[in-house]
Amino acid sequence: MRKPVIAGNWKMYKLLGEAVETALALKPLVANSTHCDVVIAPVFTALKTVADRLEGSNIKVAAQDCAVQNEFGAQTGEVAPVMIRDAGCSHVIIGHSERRQFFGETNESVNKKTKAALSAGLAVIVCVGESLSERESGNAESVVKSQLFGGLAGLTVSDLERIIIAYEPVWAIGTGKTATPEQAQEMHGFIRRVLAETHGAEAADSMRILYGGSVKPDNIASLMNNEDVDGALVGGASLEAGSFSRIVNYK
Ligand code: PEP
Repeated sequence: MRKPVIAGNWKMYKLLGEAVETALALKPLVANSTHCDVVIAPVFTALKTVADRLEGSNIKVAAQDCAVQNEFGAQTGEVAPVMIRDAGCSHVIIGHSERRQFFGETNESVNKKTKAALSAGLAVIVCVGESLSERESGNAESVVKSQLFGGLAGLTVSDLERIIIAYEPVWAIGTGKTATPEQAQEMHGFIRRVLAETHGAEAADSMRILYGGSVKPDNIASLMNNEDVDGALVGGASLEAGSFSRIVNYK
């Protein structure tokens, strides 16, 4: 009943020409992939062109971050969610661990950005996940719980209809170390229980919870085989149309 989402995060890769080339190569490879929502997240400078070239296809386009507000203003370097929507995007990724680690993203800013993105009409992929030391010290669940509490604070049940959670253990991102299907299921089940506490069982049951962290064509099926894993947020393996399409078509 939960439609899976397979999203590709292109991070800071690809000049415009290459972004278009990859998007156009992907298009026919996933044209019949009606079992899931397919999303790609190019860099800001490629969003509009890629979205235009994918118009009418089943591939949706996401930004990788956004500003905390939609009001225009003196915010040098920022891009408002309403501008992202204007560029043809339907989604935005917020709170990616690289933003949290290197660019000062906090649960509070994730919350502000999420609210601004929702009010601009975007769907939001909210990323959560613990570091290796947090996992090793037994704090993985409490870290993820506080990211959920902070990031989703003040959101209503109807807001949650346009939220997707991505659980991305920091120790698995770009490292080649994937969480085992059991580790992923354990945390996804925990996330769903937290959401049931905060927003009720129905909202929790409908939430798509994606796994992210070194997802590849050869491990996607075993991850997707778990009850609470509803898709993937893919970094490295999404950069090439062939490997990303094999992940999309994992069945
Ligand atoms: C990511 O960037 O969200 C990610 C999961 O990267 P990778 O798949 O390369 O680990």
